[in-house]
Amino acid sequence: MSGKGTLFTISAPSGAGKTSLVSALLGQVEGLQVSVSHTTRPIRPGEQDGIDYHFVSESEFSRMLSEAAFLEHAKVFGNLYGTSQHWVEEQLAGGADVILEIDWQGAEQVKRLLPEAQSIFILPPSRETLEQRLTQRGQDGRDVIAARMAQAKEEMSHYIESNYLVVNNDFEQALNELKAIINAHRLRTQRQATDLAALLSELLK
Ligand code: GDP
Ligand code: ADP
Ligand code: 5GP
Repeated sequence: MSGKGTLFTISAPSGAGKTSLVSALLGQVEGLQVSVSHTTRPIRPGEQDGIDYHFVSESEFSRMLSEAAFLEHAKVFGNLYGTSQHWVEEQLAGGADVILEIDWQGAEQVKRLLPEAQSIFILPPSRETLEQRLTQRGQDGRDVIAARMAQAKEEMSHYIESNYLVVNNDFEQALNELKAIINAHRLRTQRQATDLAALLSELLK
């Protein structure tokens, strides 16, 4: 898969703030799209099918898997999650940059398939804050929160495999750091050479 846009993966332990940050980022950065994953997880109050996730049954997920519909997929907290290959390919080919909000297993698969993809890891400022955010979000039961906290250390231990590391303490600062990562990537010579082809050919006439 090759396109004009750049693929970014964002991973973090559940509750670190990746969904809030990505949603704010989309409102402020042009030409950026987020992939809506398919999942077998039950829908949470307030979530919308097709907007937060494509909520599917296990048999539907298996069917898609057998049709090679997923760029990557993984089992997280007992539920299956996968990224649509077709959608991502279409966006990149059209020149958009694409964000995948996926766990470390997915980020690893994406890196193997597309070494030019850029991975970002988001850390909470402390374990206590992470637990507070999961609780305050008010969308998961106590047992689900306990399971996610237990899994957080395992997820965070993969920070070293990412290209960029952001701490989400102050929301606006973390948001600015994410914008800086995307903008810096867009200014790389290899990409600018394509985007500025007309200017360069005029200047070098
Ligand atoms: P969920 O889908 O219910 O989990 O909603 P989100 O997790 O995406 O977050 C709910 C709202 O809180 C969003 O509008 C976020 O932008 C906002 N938000 C969360 N934390 C902060 C913060 O520290 N500062 C600011 N300015 N907004 C925040
Ligand atoms: P994730 O998508 O990583 O599971 P969310 O984006 O749902 O995390 O964030 C978890 C909770 O923490 C949400 O209630 C969100 O409003 C809150 N939150 C996110 N970032 C911050 C921050 N910098 N300061 C305080 N609360 C935050
Ligand atoms: P949640 O159910 O809280 O939205 O997400 C739980 C976990 O699944 C998070 O770590 C999130 O990054 C991961 N996840 C969401 N969508 C995908 C996906 O399409 N692929 C993979 N590999 N992980 C995903």
